[in-house]
Amino acid sequence: CGIVGYVGGQPAAPLLLEGLGRLEHRGYDSAGVAVLSGTGLKVAKRAGRVRDLADGLPKRFAGKVGIGHTRWATHGPANDVNAHPHTDAKGLVAVVHNGIIDNAAALRQRLSDEGVDLASDTDTEVVAHLVGRSEAGTLEGKVREALAAIEGTYGLAILHADFPDRMVVARNGSPLIVGVGDHEVFVASDLAAIVRHTTTVAHLEDGEIATLTASGFTTARETTTLDIDPAAYETGDH
Ligand code: GLU
Repeated sequence: CGIVGYVGGQPAAPLLLEGLGRLEHRGYDSAGVAVLSGTGLKVAKRAGRVRDLADGLPKRFAGKVGIGHTRWATHGPANDVNAHPHTDAKGLVAVVHNGIIDNAAALRQRLSDEGVDLASDTDTEVVAHLVGRSEAGTLEGKVREALAAIEGTYGLAILHADFPDRMVVARNGSPLIVGVGDHEVFVASDLAAIVRHTTTVAHLEDGEIATLTASGFTTARETTTLDIDPAAYETGDH
């Protein structure tokens, strides 16, 4: 339903909670945040209000890179486990997602056949596992590989503890706006979440993937490769 993300020099959690508060009017059933710090990935999430999430946040929740979400459940009931962010099996990857992954059932089956324990009932969780299992060398490469397996709509913001200075975001059919500040970059599904902090914004297009760091963002269109049958391209003598 709602996404907020931050990469910069300030503690992320208060900015994320404030941004989520500004998205509350859109309606939601659960909320959560994840931050990256030198000691790794931390996640706090629960069914209920953003205020309940803020009140229950662990004392040590420092990190200058983070993502937050308000969920409007489509796949799986509104409970603490199904709240976003979702993580991979190693606890390195955190994902928040707006939208619906249409082939989630098939991907869940494939992952569980490969021995992955799925923690939640959501369509979103598969994204965390796919990113976590990708062998690509960059976070953007891992996300691109995961997205190649996914059909559906998404606004996504993704953290990985092995790439602690950045966030990768992607959109297909669900809005995402990147806001650039002074040595800090925001992302949100709705301008209302970040407009107090920056008015220099870029709207991502469908099929676009962006990498955010404190110094700015780079974007690329998603490219898909197809395996072609060479025989189909041979020219015969007609
Ligand atoms: N389909 C996802 C879920 O049910 C995301 C819903 C949303 O956009 O909030 O968890």
